Amino acid sequence: MNLATFPRYPLTFGPSPVHPLRRLSAHLGDRAEIWAKREDVNCGLAYGGNKVRKLEYIVPDVLAKGADTLVSIGGYQSNHTRQVAAVAAHLGLKCRLVQERWVDWDDPGNDRVGNILLSRIMGADVRLDDAGFDIGIRPSWEQALAEVEEAGGTPYPIPAGASEHPLGGLGFANWAFEMAEQERELGVFFDTIVVCTVTGSTHAGMVAGFAALAESDPRPRRILGIDASATLEQTRDQVARIARNTAELIELGRDLRDDEITVLDGWAGEEYGVPVDSTVEAIRLLGRLEGVILDPVYEGKSMAGLVDLVNGGDIPPGSTVLYAHLGGQPALNAYPGIFDEGPEEVPDQT
Ligand code: PLP
Repeated sequence: MNLATFPRYPLTFGPSPVHPLRRLSAHLGDRAEIWAKREDVNCGLAYGGNKVRKLEYIVPDVLAKGADTLVSIGGYQSNHTRQVAAVAAHLGLKCRLVQERWVDWDDPGNDRVGNILLSRIMGADVRLDDAGFDIGIRPSWEQALAEVEEAGGTPYPIPAGASEHPLGGLGFANWAFEMAEQERELGVFFDTIVVCTVTGSTHAGMVAGFAALAESDPRPRRILGIDASATLEQTRDQVARIARNTAELIELGRDLRDDEITVLDGWAGEEYGVPVDSTVEAIRLLGRLEGVILDPVYEGKSMAGLVDLVNGGDIPPGSTVLYAHLGGQPALNAYPGIFDEGPEEVPDQT
């Protein structure tokens, strides 16, 4: 295993915080002990998030290639493009973003508030495109790369979610080792990790990292990816492919088994980016019980999955669960309508 040999450009504050969610655990009958590891507060760059950790391993390549413009793509409310814009500003580089209409969502301001607003504030050249959701490589992004080049710039391509980038899985392979160190400090062992998955390299990096970790600590651990793409097969394939590529890159020394790669569906709803009842309930639950804020596109869906898996016993009683909070709150600004009305009662105070 050679993860430590890859150059890493520090963008985070250090290890992201890990803390128990005691009132959530109590609310679920203390069947499981639930903790969170917080990528939403992992750095000081425009509210942070999971992409910053991926970019820590990509920036050395950007600098080595002498690029002057980061070029990336996502939906109007992409957290990823906001984090690319922040890193570009931090490094003194230019940033060109293609923002596609990934979500059919008509709350006024969807293309002006939240993430896209922050990207504009940070000086990114933001171009809107009418194309719909797709986690693959897009012609509009290739076009943006060509335009930067034609204008005399040196573009650096960062695909959606930084997932198809060859180094895209390293950030969360390293997350596994960081978490293991925190387990030692806290005297706890997380037998279940719950993580939201869409473009795949967060979950995939974890799968590769935990497989490497298991070489020296064989205690069983499940990494449960909760799909929020609503294009399940594409995400499953992408997670498996990136996990295997990352495992090879870090010289795991064996192929990953299929049973190490678990992407669960049931909480994404019909469409990417559109919250369903369970999403909104999970957001309210964490807000009211813990003062922890989740978003309607990603984390509200993975938390809905966690709650159901604990309640239904798929996460067995007595488990110690780590919820990977990957950020994403700025998008809430584009969804004010979903909280206009709703249940008044506060969950019990136990
Ligand atoms: N959670 C948040 C807040 C995100 O911004 C993303 C990005 O897509 C994800 C989860 C999913 O991560 P990935 O695209 O690496 O699967």
